[in-house]
Amino acid sequence: MKLQIHRTYNFNAGPSALPISVLEKAQSELIDFRGTGMSIMELSHRSSAYEEVHNQAINRLKELLSIPDSYEVLFLQGGASLQFSMIPMNFLQPGKKAGYVMTGAWSEKAYAEAKLFGEVYQSASTKEDKYRSIPNLGQLTYHPTDAFLHLTSNNTIYGTQWRDFPDTGELPLIADMSSDILSKQIDISKFSLIYAGAQKNLGPSGVTVVIIRKDLLEQANTNIPTVLKYSTHTKNNSLYNTPPTFGIYMLGEVLNWVHELGGLSAISAQNDRKANFIYEAIDNSNGFYIGHANADSRSLMNITFNLKTAELEKKFLEEAKQEGFIGVNGHRSIGGCRVSSYNAVPLEACKAFNEFMTQFQAVNS
Ligand SMILES: *Cc1c(COP(=O)(O)O)cnc(C)c1O
Repeated sequence: MKLQIHRTYNFNAGPSALPISVLEKAQSELIDFRGTGMSIMELSHRSSAYEEVHNQAINRLKELLSIPDSYEVLFLQGGASLQFSMIPMNFLQPGKKAGYVMTGAWSEKAYAEAKLFGEVYQSASTKEDKYRSIPNLGQLTYHPTDAFLHLTSNNTIYGTQWRDFPDTGELPLIADMSSDILSKQIDISKFSLIYAGAQKNLGPSGVTVVIIRKDLLEQANTNIPTVLKYSTHTKNNSLYNTPPTFGIYMLGEVLNWVHELGGLSAISAQNDRKANFIYEAIDNSNGFYIGHANADSRSLMNITFNLKTAELEKKFLEEAKQEGFIGVNGHRSIGGCRVSSYNAVPLEACKAFNEFMTQFQAVNS
């Protein structure tokens, strides 16, 4: 008997949707992982069966993102939030400054954390404009002798995304790519360090991916706890201590799914189409839906908008939920509406939401 599978339209901002084929594969391998007679969670992280999973995930990410050999891929814990402190602990050297580009709530958190470790400054900020935009590259200030420049490539809460990145030359560029990593091709060589919590585009929560240029390690501070040094993890292939083995297995399977879809060019084309369904409904609404981000800074991952009144917005969110669209509420800090259309959200979900938006407008305007 084949059971009817119930899957909702999941627009959660993170943790977020996973590909159903990955969930099914994990389910089929759960009890007896590839002939070991135990689940992946019960295997030693020093076993060859686990190590194969671990190394395949690293290699698949290198292949998909075209990561040069001068970089290491790490799987850490503590979320993107721990990176907010690990980065300045390791790389904000005494006597140096670090610049932070302020484009939203996550940039603010990263900046506040770095302040605890040394001198930081704001390279640019769009806060005055309610974080509706990404600054022009020409507006950024930074100095070649700084420790690093930090930016947030996609602003999950406000719904903005960088299109191009600055060329900072010798100055290390560091990016929080938690909510758009693997959504499109980027030039890794512009960055010295990229980090991302896995739970948006890469897999389940519990794993943080760090892509680090090896030569950055030579400049790292040494008076910090062993487990918080990047060099500890590069020397041990992310197996210094017990890694989140199940999360890394899931991440590897999500990467295989992206590979089978045709890699980043295929994913990126699909992400364009998905976001367009929602932006089209906003732009064709004659002001019924009010987009938060300026058009040139719009995110393809998190689409944020408001309705004219709080009552109408409440009704919209309630009806969306009734229709099976989950996670459309804006972040608790700013309210409004937000559709997160990460890699694993199917095109049909965005198409269905476009139809819902059009229908809701027809009935309520
Ligand atoms: C979700 C998110 C974070 C926080 O990630 P955690 O893994 O929960 O620490 C940080 N930065 C950005 C851009 C995010 O979207």
